[in-house]
Amino acid sequence: MKVNREERIVKSWKNARYLPFIIIYSLTAMKRFLLTLFLTCYAVLALGSAFALDYVTLNEKGKKITRDGRIISRDTGGNFVLEERDGFWRLIQPKDVIEQWSDDVEFEPYTRKDLKKRLQAEFPKEFRIIETKRYMIVSDTTVAYATWCGNLLEQLDTAFLEHWQAKGFELSEPEFPLVAVIFADYGNFVRCTQDEVGSSVTKISAFYNQHSNRIVFYDLTGRENYGGIRGSINQRIREIMSRPESAKAVSTFVHEAAHQFSFNCGMFRRCAACPLWVSEGIATLYETPDFNSVKAWSSNIKVNRTRLERFYRYIIERNPQEPMKKLVLSDEPFQFTNGDTVLDSYATCWSMMYYFNAKHGDKLVEYLKILSQKKPHVSYDVEARLREFESVFGDGWDRLHRAFYYEVGELGR
Ligand SMILES: [Zn+2]
Repeated sequence: MKVNREERIVKSWKNARYLPFIIIYSLTAMKRFLLTLFLTCYAVLALGSAFALDYVTLNEKGKKITRDGRIISRDTGGNFVLEERDGFWRLIQPKDVIEQWSDDVEFEPYTRKDLKKRLQAEFPKEFRIIETKRYMIVSDTTVAYATWCGNLLEQLDTAFLEHWQAKGFELSEPEFPLVAVIFADYGNFVRCTQDEVGSSVTKISAFYNQHSNRIVFYDLTGRENYGGIRGSINQRIREIMSRPESAKAVSTFVHEAAHQFSFNCGMFRRCAACPLWVSEGIATLYETPDFNSVKAWSSNIKVNRTRLERFYRYIIERNPQEPMKKLVLSDEPFQFTNGDTVLDSYATCWSMMYYFNAKHGDKLVEYLKILSQKKPHVSYDVEARLREFESVFGDGWDRLHRAFYYEVGELGR
C-alpha cells in the first residue's frame, strides 16, 4: 500500500521504536520469541536548530500542556518530533497543537537534579534512583542488584568509547544522562510496559526504546533471592554471579545498554535508517559474559560461542546463499515471525561484526562513520544500502563470503 507523504512520519514512528533483546540461551525462549517490532524509516524533512528552544502548547487528552525542547524532524503534513530536555522524543500531530513558538534560548538538557526530580515524580515511591557517572537507574529491586547493573553499564560505556577511539572513531559522552529502568519482577515489567510496547512485551525480556531513549528490563534473578545477601558490593556481586541464570542477565543488560550507548555517543542517530545488521551487530558484539571477571563482563571483545555455534548450524543445515549480502540488502530477515530465522540473522550479524572488527577495523570504522551521518526519519533504499557497503568493502561478493567463512571457521578451531 502506498503511504501518503504526509502520513510517513506517523507510520515510521509506530514502527521505529524498539530494539528488543533476543533471548539466546534457552530453546523454549527461542521459540517464544517473535520479533514484531523493528526499525523502518521513511522520508521526513528538516532538522531543528540547536540554538533555539521550541515551545508547543498541546491538547493532551483534554488537558492543556506546554512542552519545550527542540524540533528534530518535520514532515509536509505538519507532524513533527520534539526532543524534550530529558532526551525523550515526542511525536506531535497538528490536530493537537494549540499554540507553538520559539525563542533564542539555547537548548540544554535538564540538570541531573531536575531530571531526578522528574523521575521521582514519574515513578511510584517504591522506586529508588541510583546515580552513576552516566546513568540514572530507576529501580524497585535491591540496591545491590541496581548497583551491580550500574557498575556493569559504566564499564561497558568506557570500554565502548576506548575501543572505537583506538580504531580511529572519535565518539562522545552522551548529551543526556542515560535512564535505565529495572523492575524487581517480571509481572510488573509486563504490566507497566504493555501500553508502551504492546502485546509483544510478553515475548521480550528487555528493550531499548528509541523514543524514550531508555532501557527497560527486569531483575532476571528475582528480588527474593537477594534478601539475605550482606557484605561489600564485591561480595554481593560474587554471590550473584555464582548463579547460573546470571549469564542471561549479563547478556540482556549489555545488549540493551550497547544499543542505548551507541545511539547516544554519536555512533548512530535514533530513528535513522541504519541497517539492522550493523546496530544489532554492535550490540551482539558486546553481549558475551565473562565468568572469569568479578563483574561478569570484561571489556575485551570475546567470541560469543552461542552465536557462533548458531551461525555454523545455519550454514551447515540450511546452506543459505550469500548470507552476508542478504543482511546488507535488507532488514527483512530480522522481521520474520519465525524465531529460527531471526536467530539465524542475529548469529550472522554477530559473525559479520566480529569478523569486520577483527580483520577489517579500518574499513568498518569508515563504514560506521558514513552511517553515523544519517538523519532521523530519512529513508534509505536498497540501492543506497548496497552502494554504501560496496564503496567501503568492495563488490566482490564471492571473495567477501570466502574470506568471511574462512575467518569465522577459524574461530571454532
Ligand atoms: Zn538488539
